[in-house]
Amino acid sequence: MTQEELFKKLIAHCKEYGFIFPSSEIYDGLGAVYDYGQNGVELKNNIKRYWWDSMVKLHENIVGIDAAIFMHPKTWEASGHVAAFNDPLIDNKDSKKRYRADVLIEEWMAKQDEKIQKECDKARKRFGEAFDEAQYRATSPRVLEIAAKRDAVHARFVEALDKNDLEGLKQIILDCEIVCPISGTRNWTDVRQFNLMFSTQMGSTAEGANTIYLRPETAQGIFVNFLNVQKTGRMKLPFGIAQIGKAFRNEIVARQFIFRMREFEQMEMQFFVQPGTEMQWWNEWKNTRMAWHRALGFGDNMYRFHDHDKLAHYANAATDIEFNFPFGFKEVEGIHSRTDFDLGRHQEYSGKKIQYFDPERGESYVPYVVETSIGVDRMFLQIMSAAYCEEKLENGEERVVLRIPACLAPTKVAVMPLVKKDGLPELARQIIDDLKFDYTVAYDEKDSIGKRYRRQDAVGTPFCVTVDHDSLETGTVTIRFRDTMEQQRVAIADLEKIIGEAVSFRPLYKKIKA
Ligand code: ATP
Repeated sequence: MTQEELFKKLIAHCKEYGFIFPSSEIYDGLGAVYDYGQNGVELKNNIKRYWWDSMVKLHENIVGIDAAIFMHPKTWEASGHVAAFNDPLIDNKDSKKRYRADVLIEEWMAKQDEKIQKECDKARKRFGEAFDEAQYRATSPRVLEIAAKRDAVHARFVEALDKNDLEGLKQIILDCEIVCPISGTRNWTDVRQFNLMFSTQMGSTAEGANTIYLRPETAQGIFVNFLNVQKTGRMKLPFGIAQIGKAFRNEIVARQFIFRMREFEQMEMQFFVQPGTEMQWWNEWKNTRMAWHRALGFGDNMYRFHDHDKLAHYANAATDIEFNFPFGFKEVEGIHSRTDFDLGRHQEYSGKKIQYFDPERGESYVPYVVETSIGVDRMFLQIMSAAYCEEKLENGEERVVLRIPACLAPTKVAVMPLVKKDGLPELARQIIDDLKFDYTVAYDEKDSIGKRYRRQDAVGTPFCVTVDHDSLETGTVTIRFRDTMEQQRVAIADLEKIIGEAVSFRPLYKKIKA
């Protein structure tokens, strides 16, 4: 199965099993907007819990807030979003499709890297054991030629972005002979800037109405509350403020399912530090956040850092954590050192002093900020694409199983009476009544046990508990494990402990803290 086929299957699976539906589907959907279904919302809530607790519970010096989506319009002038939250866009005149010029060029560069990798893989086959990839990359004329071309384009790209040189970007697209994936032609318009913020009116009448924006990031709600939290919480630097909430961007190139949406959710933590210590904290948070991802057990090689070519107007260091999605390595999280830009600008635009009195230094100053910013939806896609698995079983049957880490699984346990009579449903209900205070539990009595197991595998339920006639006599049940399909006879009284240990976030948190 190609990665593209896998991705299509994943999208279909998300819909068929109640994870994600297109928004307002009966009206043919709304572009790049999605709804989470009955299983999706549980997974999403568990992701948010994993993040929130790893920030707020595990760190004495991080607290949370929940700011409003609407903010005073001046916020976005101060933050730079009104002037500079733009994407460079280009249209193909034949297909009438619109693209981000920077993304087209980045994709072209990624293709050159793939070409180089293919050359290396071919050479490895030829040379066998003795193959030295580093040496081959440094000496093969073919590899050097591709790399030189790529590096030259990369240098031009960085310069054009830095200077906001739209013509320069177009020239790169023409020189690299980049074609529209739909029409296959190079018939491009000029590159233009497009602001990504959605606006609306506040107030009951059009006259006197104020244009306000739907926030394009949650971070500003944290910055404008810096003093409120610092003072009421008597917080001392370094300290962090965490927040989970919706953000909105009028993305032009909305592709790849929930990877790029117009309404999405962010989990952001702004960490305020003494000026001069920001690089140390930036490195620290890079490591902590990478450990958070890796603790899920999908394989360390599925993640990499990608340092930014162009730093945003507010940053002095920035990196992304990228995950190997079915469509390649792409950003899930950004870790940015934002200097004193945001607090400084809010101080300037509001005319209010936004400073911290440092008792150690005996002076007041605007703190520096290191932020970690991750999309809930991209995290969701990461988990689904890593967890989705089609397996051939020994008896020749196939099963689709979602190997979602047990602590994140939408349903923790499904309880099933072997037959719908003889008091088995009643005992199953009793077991559920005991477990449901702590875990999401499902009851299923329809179809054969085999079919019921398949249904639970497909939504990632880590445990199935089967109640049979022996259960009535012995107080034992069969517990079946999703990943190994192994079955064990256990006492009903032990279920709570077995499940509790397996679905705990504890081992993950210990890995992050190690
Ligand atoms: P990209 O380069 O992919 O547009 P970005 O660098 O603009 O992303 P940030 O502004 O750093 O993204 O936002 C932080 C995080 O928010 C991203 O790492 C991503 O997980 C998430 N995010 C941003 N835009 C979207 C979107 N349109 N849909 C879903 N998630 C998003």
